[in-house]
Amino acid sequence: MKVISKISQMQAIMKQERMNGRTIGFVPTMGYLHEGHLTLLQRARQENDIVVLSIFVNPTQFGPNEDFDAYPRNFERDEQLAKKAGADYVFYPDVEEMYPRKMSVAVTVTERVNVLCGKQREGHFDGVATVLIKLFHIVTPDRAYFGMKDAQQVAVVDGLVHDYNFPIELVPVETVREKDGLAKSSRNVYLTETEREEAPALYKSLKLAKERIDSGERNPEAILSFMKDYIQTHTSGIIDYIEIYSYPELKEIDTLEGRIIIALAVKFSKARLIDNMTWTV
Ligand code: AMP
Repeated sequence: MKVISKISQMQAIMKQERMNGRTIGFVPTMGYLHEGHLTLLQRARQENDIVVLSIFVNPTQFGPNEDFDAYPRNFERDEQLAKKAGADYVFYPDVEEMYPRKMSVAVTVTERVNVLCGKQREGHFDGVATVLIKLFHIVTPDRAYFGMKDAQQVAVVDGLVHDYNFPIELVPVETVREKDGLAKSSRNVYLTETEREEAPALYKSLKLAKERIDSGERNPEAILSFMKDYIQTHTSGIIDYIEIYSYPELKEIDTLEGRIIIALAVKFSKARLIDNMTWTV
């Protein structure tokens, strides 16, 4: 496994790999790897000749009051895990390498973005789209792997890949969870012991909501009010949002039918957790 921090070197190697007829699977991350990331890597390993992992805490997707500086980082540990998971290349640039000067062309995401995290985190998906355009050009993957834990990100990347004709297959991967149901996240380390005990209630609320819908409930408001009560009763977190939309369009729906997403974000003292479920009713 090779660690590469320069864009020009990465581009030269990827060009060579493509000339040799190798398919490239790409897993973009912000590091502090956990089983969720490793599952994406394993999937990429199965489906491609070459697996590239990128580790870059992207400043342009963090708001001014968000946790860019505090975001957990541990490159040595990530390197070991990536090696074990079978990555061939780790692209690990610094901020100066990725953003050497003010960008002269800005990217604005206009669809699938005025809801959920997009509404709460202004400019977040513009930053995600910006860095992905750069990474896609640098890595030139055949397939790119994204976790459904960030379902809105998958919807936005789906729009990006189609609108700008990236010859890339977007592969969404199911959310990987702890035994008690909590979605694995680099931010879970910031939960206090009590919050960690409460946090599985988020997934539980989604599962109970799904049960109600699968048993015939069709009114989104009834589901939202049930989930709000459940989370308020079972956690000390503050609800940022709980919302239901069509998926991947992320449009409001009056009746629960077709492919839907129920997504939530809850703020604990030092970590904001997100989770969701998508399925066809
Ligand atoms: P991040 O490092 O948080 O930007 O995540 C990098 C990629 O890993 C994204 O595509 C995430 O959706 C995905 N990911 C993060 N957590 C999980 C999880 N628990 N299960 C599956 N994929 C995940």
